[in-house]
Amino acid sequence: STVQEVVAATIRDVPDFPSPGILFKDIGPLVGDPEAFGAVIEHWRGRHTGSIDKVVGIDARGFIFGGALALALGVGFVPVRKAGKLPGATIERSYDLEYGQATLAVQADALTPGERVVVVDDVLATGGTAEAACELIEQVGGVVAEFLVVLELVALGGRDRLTGRVVEALASA
Ligand code: 5GP
Repeated sequence: STVQEVVAATIRDVPDFPSPGILFKDIGPLVGDPEAFGAVIEHWRGRHTGSIDKVVGIDARGFIFGGALALALGVGFVPVRKAGKLPGATIERSYDLEYGQATLAVQADALTPGERVVVVDDVLATGGTAEAACELIEQVGGVVAEFLVVLELVALGGRDRLTGRVVEALASA
């Protein structure tokens, strides 16, 4: 079976999480299955071998996929975290959620200017998180070669906020 089929078969729908009316896409079964997890990482490794200087993962599930991909590519890993978690000098960026705001942060010296990165997360929904993370990386001098997600929730229009960026999703719902 293809990596796309493996992903589709191992992501679980959880109704009413984290609040009533939300259908949450749970990547737990995917990362709990070494063949499925390995197929995702191997697919991305094949696309980016030799062309990337660092992998950036977004708090928190982007750390799971991003950390594994960084080691598979033989490059370093950079976490984009929720504000207030990283020591030392950081750059922050706030963005709007459906209710309220969120802030992401990266260490100011995380990248050498001009380094090419892929930014990794589990799910692309409205795109606010992805947009803020990519902009943060560019603020610290990085070049975002591609934004990678396991699953894209197409109806939420995340790609529209990432116009001009290369976005690759392994599955869509
Ligand atoms: P966005 O900013 O695109 O609206 O939301 C994307 C962020 O929220 C990602 O960091 C992702 O981890 C999380 N997210 C939103 N919806 C889901 C979902 O259904 N399942 C999972 N696993 N994460 C989600």
